[in-house]
Amino acid sequence: MSYEVRDRDLLARIGRLHTKSGTIETPLLFPVVNPTIQPIPPSELREKFGFEALITNAYILRKRFGEQPAKMGIHDFLNFNGVVMTDSGAYQLLIYGELDVKPEEIVAYQEQINVDIATILDVPTGWNVKRSYAEETVNETIRRAKELFKIKTRDDILWVGPIQGGKFTDLVVKSAREMGKLPFQIHALGSPTKVMENYRFDVLVDMIMAAKMNIPPDRPLHLFGAGHPMMFSLAVALGCDFFDSASYALYAKDGRYMTEMGTARLNELEYFPCSCPACSRSTPEDVRSMTKVERERFLAEHNLYACISEIKRIKQAIREGRLWEHLTARSYAHPSLLQAIKKLDKFKEFIERHSPVSKPSGLFFYSGIDLVRPEVVRHCIRLRERYTKPPKAEILILIPQTRVKPLHKTSEFKKLEKAIKKAFNSWPENIHVCAYDAPFGVIPMELDETYPLSQHETTFPLDAEIITYVAQQSADYVYRMDYRVVVLLHSPEDWGDAVLKAIEERCRVKGIKFKYFELKDDWEKMVANFLSELLGGKS
Ligand SMILES: [Zn+2]
Repeated sequence: MSYEVRDRDLLARIGRLHTKSGTIETPLLFPVVNPTIQPIPPSELREKFGFEALITNAYILRKRFGEQPAKMGIHDFLNFNGVVMTDSGAYQLLIYGELDVKPEEIVAYQEQINVDIATILDVPTGWNVKRSYAEETVNETIRRAKELFKIKTRDDILWVGPIQGGKFTDLVVKSAREMGKLPFQIHALGSPTKVMENYRFDVLVDMIMAAKMNIPPDRPLHLFGAGHPMMFSLAVALGCDFFDSASYALYAKDGRYMTEMGTARLNELEYFPCSCPACSRSTPEDVRSMTKVERERFLAEHNLYACISEIKRIKQAIREGRLWEHLTARSYAHPSLLQAIKKLDKFKEFIERHSPVSKPSGLFFYSGIDLVRPEVVRHCIRLRERYTKPPKAEILILIPQTRVKPLHKTSEFKKLEKAIKKAFNSWPENIHVCAYDAPFGVIPMELDETYPLSQHETTFPLDAEIITYVAQQSADYVYRMDYRVVVLLHSPEDWGDAVLKAIEERCRVKGIKFKYFELKDDWEKMVANFLSELLGGKS
């Protein structure tokens, strides 16, 4: 196995990829090195910035330098002793339309120059294209992929199988399935650059998921041309393991300054919102007065630091099981990012199935956007598919979950328990207590210590989306289970009347006796009285 996973959160993974020049850890950013123009020399990328790997372009190398990289070996040629990946020229094909090289020549050339990770010459789909053209690019890429395994002569190079199809997600699915059948070690999703430039992160989500759901799960996925720190967490959360960035240099050339929350123009900055070594020793004014070359170098350095530190923050979030919190915080960088997160609703069950069940930490819930979190989805599925109420339970008492958890340790529950035991001498077996909780919905009391049902904090006042969700979950639960009587402890201050109305309506439809009490003054005595009249208690 060339790739082993060491830690996971959502679809993200911290993993190790073994190559002939060393092991690299994912998620990983490959800085793009243009062999003809190098604002930061490759040796410095490793020594100064800590990059263990870089990506360069086999087509440009071959065209500009011919046999020289083959004679020297790519590592010596670039003066870089880490892992070298090559792209094949597909990007140039996208820009110029035609290349003066055959696919098999690019395969042979990558073997000759001794790269560690190589890419077949795929045909990129691009953005504004007709479906019939997109279909051709998918089919031709698959044909060339099959050809690779007949013509390659070495077994120590890892090969990347690019997935095409662009915005036509059914074609991405087809491409992913066909490429996944071939013995590639890595896959890459092509053509996302335009989608990202146009801030169509919602389309990007569809493209990534179409690929991710259809390749073998044990292979890393590279997102081609994704080099902005503001979108790394989204892509990583959806299971992208590799990125490459030419942007750090391209943005620098254009006077643009990257941050994890977007892009700024050097001309508009009065302060640097960054403490990287470059920014710590200068002000924007100093940098504006530099020569063009110096300025470009400065911005390229900062942009690289901005990318590296975001990748590190993402890795730490994966370790802590807090990638969702990190991702949602980043999604406020741009409305279209938040829109993309909202779109995850479509994929929430797939994400749930592949997300780890237990985590080192409790969970924070802020708003309705958190309803697609795997933990919330998982509780809903398990309650629906696996849970049955205690066999003798006939009467359900629903108590709102408060900030104190678990339910059986709350003062509300203790009061209720005391009043009921007083009325009946002991707890009647036919009375069952559940909490209704934001955002999990119904939590049966016997499960209230199960992770993460008590290990979470939610923002109050609750937002409307969460209240609506919990009301619906509670009403569905009541409808599914065969209780004879439902007693709701109503807390209008936190919940309005949505839960009350939803449950009342379902009870009416199913002919269940329904009663509610407001959580104030002597509510527990009123509940006990009601129950003892109903069941004939001692009072
Ligand atoms: Zn900086």
